[in-house]
Amino acid sequence: MNVHDSERLAAICEKMGYTLADKREDADLIIFNTCAIREGAEDRVFGNVGALKRMKKQKKDLIIAVVGCMTQKQSTANYIMNTFPFVDIVLGTFNLPDFEYYVNAVKKGRQLAVLPEGELNETVPYKRTSGDNAWVTIMQGCNNFCTYCIVPYVRGREKSRSEENILKEVREIVAEGKYKKITLLGQNVNSYGKDLNPQVSFAKLLKDVCAIEGDFKVWFMSSHPKDFTDDVIDVIATEDKVLKDIHLPAQSGSSRVLKAMNRNYTREKYLGIIKKIREKIPNCRITSDFIVGFPTETEEEFQETMSLVNEVKFNSIFAFIYSPREGTVASRMEQVPQEIKQRRVNELLALEKKIQKQEGIK
Ligand code: SF4
Repeated sequence: MNVHDSERLAAICEKMGYTLADKREDADLIIFNTCAIREGAEDRVFGNVGALKRMKKQKKDLIIAVVGCMTQKQSTANYIMNTFPFVDIVLGTFNLPDFEYYVNAVKKGRQLAVLPEGELNETVPYKRTSGDNAWVTIMQGCNNFCTYCIVPYVRGREKSRSEENILKEVREIVAEGKYKKITLLGQNVNSYGKDLNPQVSFAKLLKDVCAIEGDFKVWFMSSHPKDFTDDVIDVIATEDKVLKDIHLPAQSGSSRVLKAMNRNYTREKYLGIIKKIREKIPNCRITSDFIVGFPTETEEEFQETMSLVNEVKFNSIFAFIYSPREGTVASRMEQVPQEIKQRRVNELLALEKKIQKQEGIK
């Protein structure tokens, strides 16, 4: 989502007459498009922004903007404005489409702060930079409040784009003839359309995208097991255009830990979905995400994650060491010591390697 937001910023900047600078020193406008998922990333943004203080002193017309998820949080936006008064624009994700307006206001001598909420803006195009893949945002925000995650606080509640606008965008992309893959994008694509009136299911949207004539494949991310319905599996199975490649984050193999994460599914429900996928789409590639060392995770519960990975035999997994995110429920729970988290993630990754070797998975 962050990369795709940058594509939108690139289109706006190009329209304003800006071109890409090779070095920061050559730039007239420096934009940090931030991500709030991990605290380490935030710290790096602060370090990078702080380092521009001297440059701004020497080059008075330089415009510095800090935008994206991180600045969608009012307290972080205030912190940036107070700590780095030489920053000109602090803007959350919802206001990115109006970036040109804010740059012009700065040129007239204003310093601008974030407006945390907003509506999806359909009118600003993207400068697509991801090769033969075209991202298409179908919804933004998330209603799930997993206890470790900051996204619902910074991206707001789920807001779906109208199906009509999505299909129009896909038709335009296909007509350009440059893109082999279209990736439907959202924090939780499976709950697409629940906020529309009348409601539209993700399965219907997927089917309607496939009905557009042209030589392209369709993929989507991210999925949430709690909303991964049978009708979606059926569309993937029957539509040639949908890639047989499902990324379904499990996060843990322990139902107790999943409850503590507020994921709203159990180990059994997750395994049930995998079983259905295997039955209906035999050659489907399946990948997953895991968080290791979630607060209060015991050794036995970690072993349940190991056994789930052993059972499913994913094509690939992404294993993350849990790191507390200020403001989330999990950050206030009893933490697992760092060395235990490290050992567990090593064990999990070693298991993944072993399975891939045994099964000949590439
Ligand atoms: S589903 Fe959970 S992990 Fe994913 S964005 Fe929403 S709150 Fe975060």
